Amino acid sequence: MAKHDLILLVLNPSQILDLMQRALHAAGFDVAVVHDVPAMNNSVHEIVPALIIIGEKVGDQDGLSIAAKILERFPTLPIILYTDTDTSGTAKSVLKMGLSSYLYPPLKMADIVDEVQKSLVRARKLGDWLRREVKRTTSTLSEKAKISESERFKLQAIIANIQDGVIVLDERHHILLMNNAVRDIFGLDHHEINGKLLEDVISNADINALITRSNDEPLKYHEVNFDDGRVFNAQYTPIPNIGAAVTMQDISYLKELDRLKSDFIHTVSHDLRSPLTSVLGYTELIERTGPLNENQQEFLKRLQGSIQHITMLINDLLDIGRLEAGFDTRREMVQLEDILKYSLDMFDGQVKKKYIKLTVNVDHDIQLLRANPIRIRQMIDNLIGNAIKYTPDEGSVQVGLHMQDNQVIFKVEDTGPGIPPEEHNRVFEKFFRATNAPNDIQGTGLGLAIVKSIVDSHQGRVWVDSTVNKGSSFTVILPTQE
Ligand code: ATP
Ligand code: MG
Repeated sequence: MAKHDLILLVLNPSQILDLMQRALHAAGFDVAVVHDVPAMNNSVHEIVPALIIIGEKVGDQDGLSIAAKILERFPTLPIILYTDTDTSGTAKSVLKMGLSSYLYPPLKMADIVDEVQKSLVRARKLGDWLRREVKRTTSTLSEKAKISESERFKLQAIIANIQDGVIVLDERHHILLMNNAVRDIFGLDHHEINGKLLEDVISNADINALITRSNDEPLKYHEVNFDDGRVFNAQYTPIPNIGAAVTMQDISYLKELDRLKSDFIHTVSHDLRSPLTSVLGYTELIERTGPLNENQQEFLKRLQGSIQHITMLINDLLDIGRLEAGFDTRREMVQLEDILKYSLDMFDGQVKKKYIKLTVNVDHDIQLLRANPIRIRQMIDNLIGNAIKYTPDEGSVQVGLHMQDNQVIFKVEDTGPGIPPEEHNRVFEKFFRATNAPNDIQGTGLGLAIVKSIVDSHQGRVWVDSTVNKGSSFTVILPTQE
């Protein structure tokens, strides 16, 4: 036991106080005595006692509540209560308040020293344990900090050297991280960019469109086009508690391939159309050369049907070619609900034949659209046509036309077979048919590619939401103001 531990006695003058002083001195402790609370508070701060013995009453104040207050500030300081009478209530209160122990008469000098020493040992053990715990926790924390720092460096090195562009943003679109690939793509050299708003660093309309529109959509793509011909596919992915990541892949070579393929298809289909027209012409002439028997007439009809089908396909291909080449420049003010009405009239027969429950919902305030009416009709026909074609008999189809912030929203929902999630983007590719498309439903996979080209050329967006075996919902958004 350290000889110079200081024991503070907070007791009214009495014989017991004298006895304690003597006993503790004799045992080698330093002793300080105070009789009231202000003096006690001073001593606690100035002399920092190793232990306090406090009377049940200090002046006219309650010793127990004074002790509780001290413990609030010095939770490991041992305090012993001195009480004149030992009742079961005293023991309970001492325990409840977190005091070390209590003393009561009759008291011998040895009892006092013994109790003080026991309390000091316990307090010291508690202190040691606390110090050890603090040390252990801090060392594991710094160990962890070291590990996470090296992980962070590793991650930074990986992201910095990835070929794809990576930008990490906080929730308000300030840049947290941007790798070298992005700097190369936008020619940012050594600009300081961390912490800046993305739109202040990169003023690219495609990137800004992707980011502003992605606030309410989970994961979105956008093509980023540069004047020098480079094309990137940018993806926006929200990251919970951080913000979002934008990744960019160079797809210029894929675009070039696509262009070559389109040129090829365009040339071939164009060259096929003239001979087909003449074949059709001759089938019509055959009838004039003399009477045909029933079989001959039947075959001729089938021949004409097939030629018409091929001609339609070729017209579709030529349409896509023209749209993709940007030749669709005709624009006039178009009343969408009228076009929708004509389209629905055309499908009326099929709807009735398949007993489809058709619901049409059109807002009364649809604004005029600057558009090519023929193309818009084609887009509407394709989407409604698909919904009716893929929805089984007695299913339902819902068509909606709504206004929202200067945008027309055209929606076609059905209860058809749906489209597997990994194919949602692919259905807009030329010739792509979903893997679950029913075998008995014919199609070439061009309709949605045409829809996409039309919507793109009107600065709009189109996408599909769909659940297999439940149905699909195609949404087209077209801005009414350029
Ligand atoms: P067509 O060129 O005659 O339109 P298609 O209907 O097969 O042929 P798209 O309209 O481009 O081609 O559609 C592509 C594919 O997307 C379809 O083959 C089909 O698998 C799927 N699909 C399109 N619309 C729906 C729909 N409403 N419900 C289920 N699947 C659909
Ligand atoms: Mg179709």
